Amino acid sequence: TTDQKVALITGANKGIGRATADQLAALGMTVLIGARNPGRGEEAAAAVRAAGGEARAVVLDVTDPATIQEAARWVEERFGHLDVLINNAGISGSGQVSPEDALDRVPSSVDLDVVRTVFETNVFGVIAVTNAMLPLLRRSPAPRIVNVSSSAASLTINSDPDGPLAGFTSAAYTPSKTALNAVTVQYANELRKDGVLVNIADPGYVDTDINNHNGFLTPAQGAAVVVRLAMVGADGPTAGFFSEAGPVPW
Ligand code: NDP
Repeated sequence: TTDQKVALITGANKGIGRATADQLAALGMTVLIGARNPGRGEEAAAAVRAAGGEARAVVLDVTDPATIQEAARWVEERFGHLDVLINNAGISGSGQVSPEDALDRVPSSVDLDVVRTVFETNVFGVIAVTNAMLPLLRRSPAPRIVNVSSSAASLTINSDPDGPLAGFTSAAYTPSKTALNAVTVQYANELRKDGVLVNIADPGYVDTDINNHNGFLTPAQGAAVVVRLAMVGADGPTAGFFSEAGPVPW
């Protein structure tokens, strides 16, 4: 039906994105499972449908403009609008090696190509997808954008010599998420007058592939704040940075 709410989640074939899709579908939304790999996307969409939800897979590589344009065209043709965009797709840049050996471990020896690759996905990909989907979001009565960042993005936390990240360095991923936060605030400021609420979610340390399953929260627990920000009312926040525990310092 035309009043059916539609949510697009990037990188939704696994991890936090997949859990976000499960939860939004359980709330009655039609979820569009963005996945760069068609097979993995279809598999996730089928699983959401098997659980009783409305789900469709859409091929979307956030670093590939052709797939972004085709995804936007398909959403327009099939649904005519979009209510929620979750920019969740992300990479660590570290690959499957121990953190000590990671190419992006310390800035003084970082491989600049790794920095570029990580920013391409985690920052520039978000801008590209957001701009392609905004015309569709503007047709929603209550458009919401949630960008999935990290507490590691927090300059306040990173620069605290006694804080939880004391001694931790990450030359590509962490700066990419700080840049994502900055980009998000710019969108929020532009779109505030149009009623498009744009917020940043910090899911916490979640057990997924991105950290070789070192996280301790379940993907469902990590997705909770993402879903909450996707569902905020017209009086809800914009330009905010939240974990489930509340606001995260910039
Ligand atoms: P996963 O590695 O499980 O999932 C990442 C998802 O992003 C996958 O679906 C992956 O697809 C997709 N992806 C990667 N690159 C692209 C691309 N170019 N185009 C489209 N999709 C892409 O990790 P998480 O679920 O943990 O990560 C989700 C988000 O949460 C990320 O932005 C991450 O930075 C953030 N986050 C995670 C934390 C954690 O502790 N897990 C903590 C803080 C933030 P594919 O399967 O094809 O690789």
